[in-house]
Amino acid sequence: MTTKDDVIDELDERNIDYLRLQFTDILGTVKNVAIPASQAEKAFEEGIYFDGSSIEGFVRIQESDMRLVPDPETFAVLPWRDTADGAAARVICDVYDTKTGEPFAGDPRYVLKRAIDRAAEMGYTLNAGPEPEFFVFETDDDGSPTTTTHDAGGYFDLAPKDLASDIRREIIYGLEEMDFEVESSHHEVADGQHEISFKYADALTTADNIATFRTVVRAVAAMNDVHATFMPKPIPKINGSGMHTHLSLFNEDGENAFYDGDDEFDLSETARQFLAGILEHAPALTAVANPTVNSYKRLVPGYEAPVYVAWSDVNRSALVRKPAARTPAASRIELRSPDPTANPYLALAAMLQAGLDGLERGLEAPDPVRENIYDFDEAKREEYGINTLPANLGQAIDALEGDETIQRALGPHVTEKFVEAKRREMQEYRLSVSQWELDRYLPKF
Ligand code: GLU
Ligand code: MG
Ligand code: MG
Repeated sequence: MTTKDDVIDELDERNIDYLRLQFTDILGTVKNVAIPASQAEKAFEEGIYFDGSSIEGFVRIQESDMRLVPDPETFAVLPWRDTADGAAARVICDVYDTKTGEPFAGDPRYVLKRAIDRAAEMGYTLNAGPEPEFFVFETDDDGSPTTTTHDAGGYFDLAPKDLASDIRREIIYGLEEMDFEVESSHHEVADGQHEISFKYADALTTADNIATFRTVVRAVAAMNDVHATFMPKPIPKINGSGMHTHLSLFNEDGENAFYDGDDEFDLSETARQFLAGILEHAPALTAVANPTVNSYKRLVPGYEAPVYVAWSDVNRSALVRKPAARTPAASRIELRSPDPTANPYLALAAMLQAGLDGLERGLEAPDPVRENIYDFDEAKREEYGINTLPANLGQAIDALEGDETIQRALGPHVTEKFVEAKRREMQEYRLSVSQWELDRYLPKF
């Protein structure tokens, strides 16, 4: 347990001048308000007031005062700002409504806390382990990102081809200094693509970790004059970047409620019902876990990303995979659709609430599909009862608007603002004309 006093002591001992109060908006963008260390005590006691009207999806202009209340558990010194002349640190905050004094309904962290509370009432804690992937690209003379990959290594290739391994090492050191336990890091399938996965933790810690992770990766890349991107499909016709998320529920005795050694796949009834909930709500879940126009360029057959609503213990073309587990504690399911543009708080809240709905309604999971679903034609998919994920952001938002469970998971405020922002994004996209269209139609018509 890190308390307020621990933080104040550390600010002093480590010569920290500024404390960044961090939170995320509905779209998952990390926001900061920096305060001098001398104000930290006050921030912990009273919170810091800020104008929420300038934050995406927060509040209407006329009711814009919000209060940030730092969570001391999330205190961390920023490794790339730890210099001889002083350091900077951050602490993640909860957002409160100044009028009511209640947690603010538009705070994504609160949306996740609500889901966690519901799970606790049912006797469970969600553990989540993400595998965020990203590309590292060169920048041009102006420092703007290009899509020229930084190296030409392939999956698990080692140096000298993997030129970015130095950067990756720097990222990992940075993460470790921020108390991350990095589980694995490797070059991904595509040129310039990497994955760093960190140890599973309770859902709130994991969501905080994902938000931090994205900041660290981008900061370290920038210091090395390259650009790291979590855009899901920056380059057509090669693998995109996902953020597979491993999920399991633990019960109050700290045992894995997903494990049953007597089951063919080691999956308990609880795990199967949770899985069935995820499959049932998959289309609406996609809106939250894959929230950009570009997300849907990744969810196409042939690039290890899921397209079909099914589960499997063997193949990676399914939406949910049951990875082999060495120990009962490690028994889990892997949801393969999320990508790293998702707001981690909202995505984990939606996954958890979808799964809990499966438990509450006692939903039954279908049989696993052990063949490569990419090879199925429509008739075969129909025979197996396999649906497809939304093909674009518009379809995903339609699915969200038709799914009360996922809307309840987000709450009315977030649902409304999220749908509004995403419809606008879709509309802007429709107003654009792509290079593909020009290449295809300009010469022909
Ligand atoms: N990059 C792939 C995706 O888009 C995943 C590759 C893997 O299995 O790690 O999901
Ligand atoms: Mg991967
Ligand atoms: Mg994976």
